[in-house]
Amino acid sequence: MSDRIQLLPDNIANQIAAGEVIQRPASAVKELLENAIDAGATDIKLIVADAGKSLVQVTDNGSGMSETDARMSFERHATSKIARIDDLFRIRTMGFRGEALASIAAVAQVELKSRRAEDEAGTYIEIENSLVTKQEPIAFPVGTSIAMKNVFFNVPARRNFLKSNAVEMRHIVDEFTRVAMSFPGISFSLTANGQEIFRLGSSSLKQRIVHLLGSSYASKLVNVQEQTDYLNIYGFTGKPDTAKKTRGDQYFFVNNRFIRSAYLNHAVMNAYQQMIPADSYPMYALFIDLDPAQIDINVHPTKQEIKFEDEKIIYAFVQAAIKHALAQFSIMPTLDFDLDPSIQKLDAVEKPFTENQKIHTAASSLYNTFTQKNQAHLIESKSDLKHWKDFFPVTEKGRDSGSSLETEKLEYEQTGLITGYRKDGESKLRLLEDAEMLQVHAAYIVAATNQDFILVHQQAAHERILYERYADAIRDKPVAIQRSLFPLTLSLSTQDAILLQELLPDLKLLGYEIELFGKDAFIIQGTPGDVEQGNEKMAIEQILEQYKNFSNEVKFSKREKLIRSIAWQHAVKPGRYLTQKEMKALVADLFACTQPNITASGNATYIAFKKDYIERMFGKI
Ligand code: ADP
Ligand code: MG
Repeated sequence: MSDRIQLLPDNIANQIAAGEVIQRPASAVKELLENAIDAGATDIKLIVADAGKSLVQVTDNGSGMSETDARMSFERHATSKIARIDDLFRIRTMGFRGEALASIAAVAQVELKSRRAEDEAGTYIEIENSLVTKQEPIAFPVGTSIAMKNVFFNVPARRNFLKSNAVEMRHIVDEFTRVAMSFPGISFSLTANGQEIFRLGSSSLKQRIVHLLGSSYASKLVNVQEQTDYLNIYGFTGKPDTAKKTRGDQYFFVNNRFIRSAYLNHAVMNAYQQMIPADSYPMYALFIDLDPAQIDINVHPTKQEIKFEDEKIIYAFVQAAIKHALAQFSIMPTLDFDLDPSIQKLDAVEKPFTENQKIHTAASSLYNTFTQKNQAHLIESKSDLKHWKDFFPVTEKGRDSGSSLETEKLEYEQTGLITGYRKDGESKLRLLEDAEMLQVHAAYIVAATNQDFILVHQQAAHERILYERYADAIRDKPVAIQRSLFPLTLSLSTQDAILLQELLPDLKLLGYEIELFGKDAFIIQGTPGDVEQGNEKMAIEQILEQYKNFSNEVKFSKREKLIRSIAWQHAVKPGRYLTQKEMKALVADLFACTQPNITASGNATYIAFKKDYIERMFGKI
């Protein structure tokens, strides 16, 4: 037999290596923005075209590069940021691996312009397929501009793998948001297809957060600030009413680097216990600063996952800091009706303010801002729940008896509105299949039945459907696995890794093919068809996190917890617009369930509006 091993040609090796760092246009956005920050820029402009597919360009007013450095910067392992292995433990810059520009040059056409303050002329360089095709002096202001054009033009398989412009643009905005949030002192702008999407002047962290995430947060941020010799934490966490059903606005930064950490997220969620429903996510933007020697950032090619020397301390610290911050501002919120009605059942909301709490609150300066007009919060009377009365129709009797939610719920049922809590009377419900359905607030579906109409909670309904489907899958019909083109690696905290290992056999029946790959690391070989490519890691992290939320529920088996977690994770979330076809399929699937009226955890999946009740409301009976 002849020998078969060959060395890969450089350009192929580079392209393969590039795949780790540059997965999509947004990866280049992150790397180029970080380089600009490392170069000491105070003003950074990001321009994209065609969701970054044809152009990602970052222009900065930083240090600039000499002619030689400009050329060198595209070599693999070319970096000015570390020289010795020890430097790895002192990293204060965003980059250090010297891979980003080499990777970009391997998979795209690149134009670089740069000038240092001490140089007369700047440098212009064009690169394609890792080769310099043009170099000449140019006139250029101090700083650097790097443009990545036609990403993956030479790797069609990857080019085809890119998502729609909407999806790729969302990734770009996510990366931009993370970087801009961690450096509020730097001015940033983002222009897409000639239209300016963000222009952020140098500002405070709070202003930056509000500019990036929306003014609705302006009055809803609670300051977090704790310092110790070992580490500092600062930033903002949302008042409980910022909790949403999707986990969008949650940011952790360690030494100014955005990281994902299911473990630390769990610490925050724990601090909110009792204040928000179990499956909702408060906003937070938290910055942890500690000695770089205490962390290993080098565990992941895009540096979004890090290892802490002592994770438990950080967990406890984060949790304590959030609890402390929330305790100072524990004021009963005026509820947003977007929130799940189950929030009303929580102690923190239902129980009236104690005398002690009131005294404490009144003493805080925050009290005064809240009691002023037009603020998000108002503390006027014993109960802030009176708005619920506007929402729920209340009979005369109800008005006299105060605002106890328990009574309201009773009346609510007596009046003829039937929620999924009550099983009786519903079995006769039939959908009118030809009638159009209507989606409201991208969260509810109005559907006609033989007894008038029902209001379906899209997420709860989907959760019920999936719950039954997965229960079947575990029993005897495994879910089909969609194998990934590029298997992904996933590294987890030790605790999570142990947990995931335990769950692997059952996960396989549910469509997740995951293999152990060294200590605390896994390879994701495949996921069920309904997990979007690119979201695999997040899906698994969310499942683990949700699973952990159930960890106190001793009455459930491991499988039961897993099925519930995955049903929750895969269910369509509020905010997703559904087509007629999707709505009809969803509601029909719900009614085909063995128990359509509630989710596994007992929340209603729909509310039925009965004919006589509606007539009564209009004074017709
Ligand atoms: P790393 O950031 O890990 O060092 P990169 O491939 O991102 O590696 O960049 C390589 C080198 O090019 C950097 O170390 C830096 O010296 C230089 N460089 C890259 N971008 C800029 C910039 N915008 N301004 C000045 N120097 C830059
Ligand atoms: Mg870099």
